[in-house]
Amino acid sequence: MLIPGSCHCGNIRFALAWDPDPKEIVARACSCSFCVKHGGVWTSCPSGSLQVTLKDASLVSRYAFGTRTAAFHVCARCGAVPVVTCRIDGRLHAVVNVNTFDGVEPSLVRRVAATFDGESEELRLERRRRNWIGEVEFVEQP
Ligand SMILES: [Zn+2]
Repeated sequence: MLIPGSCHCGNIRFALAWDPDPKEIVARACSCSFCVKHGGVWTSCPSGSLQVTLKDASLVSRYAFGTRTAAFHVCARCGAVPVVTCRIDGRLHAVVNVNTFDGVEPSLVRRVAATFDGESEELRLERRRRNWIGEVEFVEQP
């Protein structure tokens, strides 16, 4: 299943190839202060692949806080946050925000509360390596 998503103004677009097709998409409503303020509800398919297309890369803010191991890709024009990435051993991993999906049947998405407070940096990276999308490509439009 190919899942399209974008920020509100269309500057950041993504296509998530979810393989095999999902019976349901479990999405984690993260309780950290950033995700609460931005409506960050994250999902990933570890066996899938993600392509992110940036219309104007200069209008993408990469925001990091806390352990600074993850980069929140915030559209500087419209403020939406479609993608978070984390580089682990040179490899880019990502999760996407289900609130930025385009045209996905909402009943397919099951939202669950999640809190990652108190997790050590080592365990955090290990969890991301296992659970986040492991094939991530960024494309900048000419
Ligand atoms: Zn935007």
